[in-house]
Amino acid sequence: MTIVRDFFIGLSQNELLNSAAKKYGLKMGAQSVVAGTNVAETMESIKKLNAQGMSCTIDNLGEFVFEKDEALEAKGNILEVIEAIHTHEVDAHISLKPSQLGLDIDYDFCFENLEAIVSAAHNYGIFVNFDMEDYPRLQASFDIVEELSKKYDNVGTVIQAYFYRAEEDLNKYKDFRLRIVKGAYKESDEVAYQDKADIDANYIKLIEWHLLNGKFTSIATHDHHVINHVKQFVKNHSISNDKFEFQMLYGFRTDMQQELVREGYNFCTYVPFGNDWYGYFMRRLAERPQNLNLVAKQVFNK
Ligand code: FAD
Repeated sequence: MTIVRDFFIGLSQNELLNSAAKKYGLKMGAQSVVAGTNVAETMESIKKLNAQGMSCTIDNLGEFVFEKDEALEAKGNILEVIEAIHTHEVDAHISLKPSQLGLDIDYDFCFENLEAIVSAAHNYGIFVNFDMEDYPRLQASFDIVEELSKKYDNVGTVIQAYFYRAEEDLNKYKDFRLRIVKGAYKESDEVAYQDKADIDANYIKLIEWHLLNGKFTSIATHDHHVINHVKQFVKNHSISNDKFEFQMLYGFRTDMQQELVREGYNFCTYVPFGNDWYGYFMRRLAERPQNLNLVAKQVFNK
């Protein structure tokens, strides 16, 4: 299982395959988990999800950018999405990755790009979530969110339960709107739990703590064991539905997504769009090789 996971994570970081994928559009089943290649298509998908009672967080796909032009292009795309959210009056906010906006190029350049985005979103009352990437980028990402939060109240971020330091970070940033996840990258045992049971146990612990002590919790998982546990926990502690939401990725466990909405929980779908789908898609295969079924369905259901 670990070998399969490492294989797909290795593929997700292959620059050659990544750039080839961009040229060839949505392939290999990615079209079932990516909402569209442009803003117009994505807005149509979002309107459908909103009509089903789901809010959305929109991710302009792309990461690990090393050229300034590419980072500026990504900034332009995200600003376009912010305008579209406002113009189309959809129930949606932004998710972004600092490495797409130049974190690996220059800290100040990245900060300027991110501030431009957060400020534009702030003007329209749109929330911006900073996705968390791998460990080498973790502290710099927290630093940027913390700095921006002094000026803007529309920023939040992610806590990855596989990190040993997650509990400390959760405590420090408890007043942010936080998304709590298990963690998607390959990390060493010097910084992160490796065992699924340890990660799951820490995940539950962090969620419970933040539901009791934090501001607003986004519980982002497809794990029905965790979801059922949270349902029982909020009931036992009389935590009202407006203190938390469940989040899942677009195209995954859609029956369960709809069921949560029917049960009256706040639900937000993470909606990725664009041509830079390769790394995102490979990480989904790493998490759950059965996701290859999605590929098979796309290949054979022509
Ligand atoms: P897993 O541990 O993958 O699965 C647990 C169990 O749930 C499985 O054994 C199976 O029984 C069941 N299950 C899971 N998926 C399915 C399925 N498709 N169909 C049927 N059963 C299933 N990671 C980051 O590092 N940074 C981020 O910023 C980040 N943001 C995220 C945002 C969202 C909205 C989501 C949903 C995830 C995000 N992740 C992020 C990824 C996350 O860290 C996990 O890697 C990913 O969610 C897989 O873990 P899981 O909790 O869904 O359950």
